[in-house]
Amino acid sequence: MPKKFQNTLSFARQLDKEDPLKSYRKRFHIPLQKNGKPFIYFCGNSLGLQPKTVRKYIEQELLDWEKLGVEGHFDGKNPWYYYHHFLEKSSAKLVGAKKNEVVIMNSLTVNLHLMMISFYRPTPQRYKILIESPAFPSDQYAVASQAQINGFDPKDAIIEVKPREGEETLRTEDILAKIEELGNELALVMFGGVNYYTGQFFELDKITEAAHKVGALAGFDLAHATGNVLLKLHDWQADFAVWCSYKYLNSGPGGTSGAFVHEKHGNNLATPRLAGWWGNDEKTRFEMQSEFIPQKGAGGWQLSNAQILPMAVHLASLEIFEEVGIRKLRKKADQLTAFMEFIINDLNAKKETPSFQIITPKDPKKRGCQLSILTDETGKHLFKKLTEAGIIADWREPNVIRIAPVPLYNKFEEVWRFGKILGQG
Ligand SMILES: *Cc1c(COP(=O)(O)O)cnc(C)c1O
Repeated sequence: MPKKFQNTLSFARQLDKEDPLKSYRKRFHIPLQKNGKPFIYFCGNSLGLQPKTVRKYIEQELLDWEKLGVEGHFDGKNPWYYYHHFLEKSSAKLVGAKKNEVVIMNSLTVNLHLMMISFYRPTPQRYKILIESPAFPSDQYAVASQAQINGFDPKDAIIEVKPREGEETLRTEDILAKIEELGNELALVMFGGVNYYTGQFFELDKITEAAHKVGALAGFDLAHATGNVLLKLHDWQADFAVWCSYKYLNSGPGGTSGAFVHEKHGNNLATPRLAGWWGNDEKTRFEMQSEFIPQKGAGGWQLSNAQILPMAVHLASLEIFEEVGIRKLRKKADQLTAFMEFIINDLNAKKETPSFQIITPKDPKKRGCQLSILTDETGKHLFKKLTEAGIIADWREPNVIRIAPVPLYNKFEEVWRFGKILGQG
């Protein structure tokens, strides 16, 4: 565990001084307030900041387009025909997969649907989908509509696991018990990796194992997990996963998305899927044959001509992750989050009645770098004060403030300053 923290500016500055990753902040554009001072940006869980290298990466592709036109597909510096391969190695490392188990394409909810088309194959007997509560709205809509187009009533087909009365997060034992209870009615477990609201990192290995034990499949939405927590999708035997690149992966608004298909499915060309020409075997893709021959691996789920410009942004960002390594990031994130937790608890201790309840799990293994703070009725007012003080956080009705100190660009000093303003509320 980290050494004993102190709620002082000098202590926070000392932590920054000792931080082996401190130089990475300079590699990002930090948004500025009207007074020219940088915002304290704790919203990397919604939209990560822009790596300074992004412009150069986009310009390279603009230049190739300008100079080469269509020939850029093969003659460009980074030939567009193969562009998604340039993103494979670093993406695979982040989710704990083999290179051919990942592909970068489309956007998140689109990929979620593509995966469910393949891996939610309900029968009259086995048709239920288990999700966490509260699941991100887009995921709720996606699973409900998948049930619906297969002829099932979402009210019957979609099962939510809820926290126990008086609790805010889910107990693994309750998730596993639900899976077992649903048994041969359960077709798919579709869970978030890290819950967007509470910041809880679920035990995906155990969930996958339990799902497989009853004959169901397990797929994960890793929007809040990729680039944040350690993942081992291949070893965990997850069937599929999807994630976006614009949160912790800093790849810009509406950035491209990732998908994982375990090789047990990806190498089986008979796995049902929606097809498009980009998923066709690369050797014959441009021969324009009428029969679809899927590529082996996750690449076989591609539909369209790759989106080079968002992918160039993603490549610039992934190279930073490749350079630092997720383990070092995780280590700093643990400390940064623990410091934030300490500061909030310290504020509570100074009050007669604690006004901030952290609903994110205390166990560092069960969270990433987000803390969700349940406030009392003064919450909204407090959030306004934070905003006025140049702190960008996130408000969720009815009264939760989500803050994400991100290890690539946030500082301990920023955490301390946040606490100072919170304390004045
Ligand atoms: C951010 C997020 C999304 C957003 O989906 P898009 O298709 O990228 O707009 C979906 N699901 C979860 C869990 C998220 O956190």
